Amino acid sequence: MKYADVILPLSLANSYTYRIPQDMQAALVAGCSVIVHFGKRRYYTAIVLEVHNRQPQSTLEVKEIYALLDASPVLRRPQLRFWQWLSEYYLCKLGDVYKAALPSGLKLESETAVSCIKDFEAQFPLRPAEQAVLDAFSDGQKLTVSELEKKTGLRNVVSTLSVLLTYGAVEVQEELKKGFAPKLETYVSLSDEYRGHDALQKAFDLLKRAHKQELLLVAYLDLSHILNPTLATEVTKKELLQQSECSVSVLDGLVKRGILKYYDKEVGRLQVHISRLQPPQPLSPDQEKAYADIHESFKIKDVCLLHGITSSGKTEIYIRLISEVLSLNRQVLYLLPEIAITTQITNRLAKVFGDKLLVYHSKYSDNERVEVWNKLRAEKKPLLILGVRSSLFLPFYDLGLVIVDEEHEPGYKQQDPAPRYHARNAAIMLANMHGAKTLLGSATPSLDSYFNALTGKYGLVSLNLRYGNTQMPQIIPVNVKELKRKKIMKDALFSPILIDKITEALNNDEQVILFQNRRGFAPVIECKSCGWVPHCVNCDVSLTFHKFRNQLVCHYCGYTYQLPPVCPECRESDLKMMGVGTEKVEEEIASLFPAAKIGRLDFDTARTRTAYERIIDDFDGGKISILIGTQMVSKGLDFGNVSVVGIINADSLLNYPDFRAHERAYQLMVQVSGRAGRRDKSGTVILQTTQPEHPLIQMVQRFAYQEMAKMQLTERSMFRYPPYYRLIVVVLRSRNEAVLQEQSLLFAAKLREKLGDRVLGPVSPPVTRVQSLHIKKIVLKIEISANISLVRKLLEAVQHEMQMNSAYKQLLVHFDVDPA
Ligand code: ADP
Ligand code: ZN
Ligand code: ZN
Repeated sequence: MKYADVILPLSLANSYTYRIPQDMQAALVAGCSVIVHFGKRRYYTAIVLEVHNRQPQSTLEVKEIYALLDASPVLRRPQLRFWQWLSEYYLCKLGDVYKAALPSGLKLESETAVSCIKDFEAQFPLRPAEQAVLDAFSDGQKLTVSELEKKTGLRNVVSTLSVLLTYGAVEVQEELKKGFAPKLETYVSLSDEYRGHDALQKAFDLLKRAHKQELLLVAYLDLSHILNPTLATEVTKKELLQQSECSVSVLDGLVKRGILKYYDKEVGRLQVHISRLQPPQPLSPDQEKAYADIHESFKIKDVCLLHGITSSGKTEIYIRLISEVLSLNRQVLYLLPEIAITTQITNRLAKVFGDKLLVYHSKYSDNERVEVWNKLRAEKKPLLILGVRSSLFLPFYDLGLVIVDEEHEPGYKQQDPAPRYHARNAAIMLANMHGAKTLLGSATPSLDSYFNALTGKYGLVSLNLRYGNTQMPQIIPVNVKELKRKKIMKDALFSPILIDKITEALNNDEQVILFQNRRGFAPVIECKSCGWVPHCVNCDVSLTFHKFRNQLVCHYCGYTYQLPPVCPECRESDLKMMGVGTEKVEEEIASLFPAAKIGRLDFDTARTRTAYERIIDDFDGGKISILIGTQMVSKGLDFGNVSVVGIINADSLLNYPDFRAHERAYQLMVQVSGRAGRRDKSGTVILQTTQPEHPLIQMVQRFAYQEMAKMQLTERSMFRYPPYYRLIVVVLRSRNEAVLQEQSLLFAAKLREKLGDRVLGPVSPPVTRVQSLHIKKIVLKIEISANISLVRKLLEAVQHEMQMNSAYKQLLVHFDVDPA
């Protein structure tokens, strides 16, 4: 007997065992997708993990695999291994990985078509539900399970059907509706009988009296280069009509005569069509050196960190490395954080790599993503995939290089739902499985990667000059406290020097970026007389006022409220707006510079890919001269004309309660500053703060990354934080605060029995309640050298023990490994 362990899109067990029917045994291999029956009511698409002949231990009946969806595996071997590693390391189920990995179009919808057997005669009385199902069929009709459900009003029609099946009353056929519709384009070609000079001459003879058709044929020959086989290319109907300026009817006439013919071809939606490819740019001597150093490093190490300041030309070095790997017939994955993939970078790569470039972005449609997936499944070609973290799951054939650009970005960590993986770390593992190298690039590396480079685990290559020797911007800290004390800057947001610099830039037709890391208008509203502050009913946070929408918004759950006209506690009508969001910066700038074109880039204005790209393009094209934004403006954008960057309030970055706060603050400030003075101008950064003497501000001012790293690493090692210790957080949530309190104490106590003082908490996070769920966290600090699989076993054992306890069922519990 043969069995298959399959992965279901559920977070229960890792895999489930099914029997393989005789007729499927030859075709079914690991990585195939199949339809299985699970639970009472459902069919699922499952992925075969392993085929074996071990008799299952369980006493439960082992079901048969229902249907084989696709005999060519959806997953290649390395993908399956990668899934397993992810679920083990990040403490989640294979089903969680499955759900995250495949686009919906590949998790095929299963629409079971059923028909009833005509001459069926019951040997005994049928139950009402069974009769109802049979009655639903009119003659010879086929119905899907969902149609039957609607027609009969039965909830468990599937189980009724399976009974009827055993009676021989109905027949079931799987008809699978694919969620994916390929995009077709019509092409034109010369019919076979007119190929060759003589035959073609005959065609022209035929067209003597059809002048337009003759013109069109000439245009076709021109475009297709069919007479010169080395240049010959395919011609689309659209371009032929455009080029010849003929109407469709003329073309249809030629096709009717049998001289030309149409054919349809699946086309990629993702490819940028570039007619002439450009070779990579020649590298500057510094870039050459960095490039050679990376090569040297790859001889002895699998991972190399490229620490190159903003605008040093890291991308050009990537391009050189990519073309080298592609020429070896291997594939390349180029990872960027979600919001850093723009037309800018796509065009830059497409110019060099043409249709070898595929883009995989979560804001693309599902169809587009299925297209990339299928292309990689079908072809073993050298391709470059530019993608966000989920592109790690694509079915690569042979990766030779993985580039993780802006590797310091917290966006690489998936927060919710599981798998809560870190794409940078997962990329290194994936590369390993392919025998590929990983290049991490950043102007402000994460301390984790930098530490690995310092300790020799990774190679380290630095690039300390901007391309073309452009100067780094001058950073001017401005003491806002002092200015307020001297009444120079009362309630204003902008210091006089910032206003001067903006004025100067606008006069010179240069651009300005203003960075404020809070969106909305006023983060807090307070009643002037009683101090009442509006809070979200679902979450334990105060609400942010969005003036544009005239609403109070909860930034944790998205819930919106009307702004009350008076204080609900004391009827006071004077509600004070406190704090500063991007909307407020925009309003004030507009009143100071009424003639300037202003744009705002934050979560509210850039909800869709097109909205985001429009703002970027408008700024790039000079339609916007002052761009205000949250950390979105710091993302690897390359603008040529920005001379001033203003950091409105650095304090909020410094005072954030997190062990990574200072590392992040440094990265953000340096990255935003990096937008100033690219190409041939050096720029100015005005950094407003109440703590200009703060060591971190001074390090930003001097771009003293190494100093910052040293200071932070000392702190981290003292307080047992990464990169010296590995953090695993147990997150417990419940509607019932008392049960949560009690159960989390118990959970922590049980962990402490085994792990001692490596266990901290339970503690309440800064926001103690989100979406009506109270939250507690237990933090584990594990020595980096400890055996992680032992820790995992221990955690799972404790969780198992906790599950014995009925109150625990009121909790939602998950693990967060290496939280960001
Ligand atoms: P980084 O990725 O390090 O921030 P980029 O690769 O975006 O830097 O380079 C910054 C600017 O310098 C870009 O406009 C890029 O086109 C230009 N540049 C960098 N290297 C070269 C080169 N070797 N030849 C021509 N232009 C270059
Ligand atoms: Zn009040
Ligand atoms: Zn809320």
